[in-house]
Amino acid sequence: MRPIQLIVLAALTVAPLTAQQQHPTAWDPAYLNRPDVRAALDHLERGFPKQVDEWIRIAQMPGKSGHEQQRAAYLRAEMEKAGLRVSSDSIGNVTGVRTGTGGGPTIVFAAHMDIVHSLATNTTVRRAGDTLHAPGIFDNSSSVANMLASIRALNAAKIVTKGDLVFVGTVQEELGLRGMAYWLAHNPKPDLLIAMDGGLGAVSYGALGIYWTRYRFKSAGSHTLRSRGQPTPVLAMADAVQRIYKLQPAPLPNGAVINVGQVHGGEIFNGIPQDLFFTVDLRSPDPVLLDSLDRMITRIAQEAATREKVLLVVEAEQKNGAGGTERMLAPARAHPLVQTAIDIQKQLNVDFGMPGAAEALATGSTDANIGVVMGIPSIAIGRSQGGDQHTLTEWAHWPSALQGTKLTLLLATTFGDGVKPVAPRFVP
Ligand SMILES: [Zn+2]
Repeated sequence: MRPIQLIVLAALTVAPLTAQQQHPTAWDPAYLNRPDVRAALDHLERGFPKQVDEWIRIAQMPGKSGHEQQRAAYLRAEMEKAGLRVSSDSIGNVTGVRTGTGGGPTIVFAAHMDIVHSLATNTTVRRAGDTLHAPGIFDNSSSVANMLASIRALNAAKIVTKGDLVFVGTVQEELGLRGMAYWLAHNPKPDLLIAMDGGLGAVSYGALGIYWTRYRFKSAGSHTLRSRGQPTPVLAMADAVQRIYKLQPAPLPNGAVINVGQVHGGEIFNGIPQDLFFTVDLRSPDPVLLDSLDRMITRIAQEAATREKVLLVVEAEQKNGAGGTERMLAPARAHPLVQTAIDIQKQLNVDFGMPGAAEALATGSTDANIGVVMGIPSIAIGRSQGGDQHTLTEWAHWPSALQGTKLTLLLATTFGDGVKPVAPRFVP
């Protein structure tokens, strides 16, 4: 959803390996010798050029949030060809179930299909050496292609799991995780949730809470010649914005950030405006801090409106809950899903040219957030390397998508029969 991995890479510190290894893991390197797992990985490698071609095709389909229909139809058709039990819901999510033999966990893999760019944006993919260039090429068409390749490799290697593997192409992730929220509200609670969304190397197990609120100030209005001494929403808004910026909570990652992103209103030169608004994008991983800041901002806006004798209307655009600070999320970090994903990444030798690139992050801004807040063991894993997300110069390093796909496949096979932590051992 948001280019968190760029911040993360800059802030990485190399934790001592011993400290990392205290976390329970289900990864056992000997697992790679299992013939069916080996066959699935070989299938991924052989099919990778075709996977990249498919990725490009998906990226060139329309994908603006709310307009994912062509991508959804494609995903649905390919899932049907792969023999999954496929369904679509009324918001537009596509779900394909690879049924297990029974008695295992239900694992959801979610890749959002939408992009932030308008339908008019040229999404023709340009390929230059190891990189692909196009708006939306990284976020998140890469994951949709990774998902399809993983399903086909599981089938080709005839891998059988006890648990159901549920593959979901979600919609409207970029509008506040709406598709995933809808899915989780209308389906039985899964045992594990893995969002495929983000730069390769980071494993997010937290949820950055995000509240978007519109503060609207209304007045009776008046001609400029009769405006002197009359209530004006301009002063209320100006006063409120000034005071909101003075709040200055502790910074992220454990504090909060507040941004006024939009200021609108006043169509007429020679009059008091009747309707103005500004928007607040408030984010924090700490649910208590998030709610207290939200209340404080609303109180500030109300005080400003009262003082200026104008009306305040508060419109909540989206409220995505916070998963908690690193300390609050200690139980989530202790679930083997997190360390297993990290250990697999290390095993796959993700090469960023820097040490410690596979890191667990107590934050996140993906479909996994909804699971984190619901208490479902949830992570977000990377798809490929890339950058400039949500811009017209977005790019992706295509060879690394093979690692992202192998990670997906190995998580499916490792947890498909149940969560079995093994004694932590050294992983190169
Ligand atoms: Zn995304």
